[in-house]
Amino acid sequence: RQSWMDKLSSGLRKTSTNISQVFTGAQIDDHLYEELESALLLADAGVKATGFLLADVKRRVAASGATRPVQVKNILIASLTELLKPLEKPLVIGQYKPTVIMVAGVNGAGKTTSIGKLTKHLADEGASVLLAAADTFRAAAREQLAVWADRNTVEIVSQEGGDPAAVSFDAVSAGRARGKDVVLVDTAGRLPTQLHLMEELRKIKRVVQKADASAPHEVILVIDGNTGQNALTQVRAFDDALQLTGLIVTKLDGTAKGGVLAAIAQEKPVPVYFIGVGEKLEDLETFSAREFALALLA
Ligand code: GDP
Repeated sequence: RQSWMDKLSSGLRKTSTNISQVFTGAQIDDHLYEELESALLLADAGVKATGFLLADVKRRVAASGATRPVQVKNILIASLTELLKPLEKPLVIGQYKPTVIMVAGVNGAGKTTSIGKLTKHLADEGASVLLAAADTFRAAAREQLAVWADRNTVEIVSQEGGDPAAVSFDAVSAGRARGKDVVLVDTAGRLPTQLHLMEELRKIKRVVQKADASAPHEVILVIDGNTGQNALTQVRAFDDALQLTGLIVTKLDGTAKGGVLAAIAQEKPVPVYFIGVGEKLEDLETFSAREFALALLA
């Protein structure tokens, strides 16, 4: 099986200006820095993080007296690692019983798949999990979640066409009554147009709080790493509405836009609990700043 680092770097290498190619020349000059700037922008690092990285790399190059492009590459790896470091934080459960984790994300981001992966990850760690199907609008979402629940042999609270907040309330109450370690609440990613998504999500959060005053303990947003700067816009909007505690960044196995993590680190540093590197249940990895930086520049 291909290692996740390989999958990650083969995806990240798809940029038309492969970042590591920038360092194949003979000398460190303006041309190198221009190429580096384009490559970072193409990888969707965004204007701010690109500007920050360029300035930081130039400063470090000057301080180190580096003369060869390959040294600049190593300096960039160090600079990027440091920028991404604040995103490196593990998801900790066990402080509350149950730990209530609300999961949000726009349709197609990989939310349902990620919940399946997360369920497996938690179950593998020995935690008992209860799933709440709070996306009551989409029958397909409920069904898909039920399939994941089945595969992970965990219980699910689901109610056709029910009120999403009520389903969430019931699930948290059931999780407490049944002594579960974790309640994972799957929320809708899009609603019929007359309803407001953020309003519904805020309501779920409020009602969950009524079932358990300390909950939700985690509010995780799933974003598609392929959507580049759009992912950053989503992080901002969902954080404003829900105060996110963490992210899952999916599809990093097939994207050339992984630089968006640098933009998130620069502009909205919400911890990246996990990254998705494939469609299978085991394709979930904890985020490491250094490994990500190495893969981006491989
Ligand atoms: P949702 O609408 O947000 O619930 O998205 P789904 O979980 O249904 O995922 C949408 C599509 O993305 C599906 O085809 C998934 O198999 C795929 N997907 C999800 N996560 C990943 C990932 O990390 N890598 C890859 N390659 N595909 C993914």
